[in-house]
Amino acid sequence: DRLIAAEPEQGEGRIDYAIRPKRLDDYIGQPRVREQLEIFIGAARLREESLDHTLVFGPPGLGKTTLANIIATEMGVGLKSTSGPVLERAGDLAAMLTNLEPGDVLFIDEIHRLSPAIEEVLYPAMEDFQLDIMIGEGPAARSIKLDLPRFTLVGATTRAGLLTSPLRDRFGIVQRLEFYNLEELTEIVTRSARLLGVETSAEGAIEIARRSRGTPRIANRLLRRVRDYAEMKGNGTVDVSLADAALNMLNVDHYGLDHMDRRLLLAMIDKFEGGPVGVDSLSAAIGEERNTIEDVIEPYLIQQGLMMRTPRGRTVTRQAWLHFNRVPNEHSVD
Ligand code: ADP
Repeated sequence: DRLIAAEPEQGEGRIDYAIRPKRLDDYIGQPRVREQLEIFIGAARLREESLDHTLVFGPPGLGKTTLANIIATEMGVGLKSTSGPVLERAGDLAAMLTNLEPGDVLFIDEIHRLSPAIEEVLYPAMEDFQLDIMIGEGPAARSIKLDLPRFTLVGATTRAGLLTSPLRDRFGIVQRLEFYNLEELTEIVTRSARLLGVETSAEGAIEIARRSRGTPRIANRLLRRVRDYAEMKGNGTVDVSLADAALNMLNVDHYGLDHMDRRLLLAMIDKFEGGPVGVDSLSAAIGEERNTIEDVIEPYLIQQGLMMRTPRGRTVTRQAWLHFNRVPNEHSVD
């Protein structure tokens, strides 16, 4: 598996809980999101209403789940959480909805993966706080309607474009999370190091931040691996040369790219003359699923200006050729 995959890894849970920000004030970066939520949450509390349904989207590991928890904490309500693929039958969602306390946050991760039948149940629940469901089968089937308490649905997805438009339209608040800049990631690494009792120099923290692919989950994971290295090979303190040695050993380059990133870019350069190439051909060439390429690998490479999405397919930029010490070919783009 990728060391810098943005998906949670096994055993990450307990440590993760210790370093996960609990309040809006501890949520580092995303200034626009924070400012807006502060206003919307403040206003909802003042009116003693529940917060409008909120959709949060952005690549994995950027803080969607964290934000859902913070919303519940700041609203002073409970949180129940599930995910699109887990909800298989309409009854599964009905059970979640009827278990909600007034005001609760219902968090649905990967909400783009809800089946159409379940979306149908969700619409009246979101709009009128009504459960409208068929029970039984054949001639004995009948529909029942139940009133639900007011609640806030917080949905998370990697790309807003994956949602059906009737579902997207039912969210009153839509927030997009961006990759974090070096300063923000350094603050995250420094904060996590403090909470975990890891001694880091300022430059050591910056080095980890620089190589974290703009993603807090990766920053925290690299910090833990560098800490292991510091305990075994150093004196426990993470300074810049130790961080550099550890990250080199982990195959994370100076740009923060790992072997999957490099494989994708090199496949485009070596097998497709830099592109344009369709995502399905790329997926076959590197043996990685199309979804993983689109949701996990390429957003960061695009943001870094190493590749582009064009109507004719994906292309690497001149910068990517230069990153691998190659001479850009004649049709490479800036
Ligand atoms: P997502 O749900 O988008 O995949 P998470 O909310 O699980 O991402 O975030 C991954 C980890 O990164 C969290 O456990 C948390 O410790 C850390 N994290 C995320 N966002 C922030 C932030 N804004 N400030 C500090 N730490 C963060």
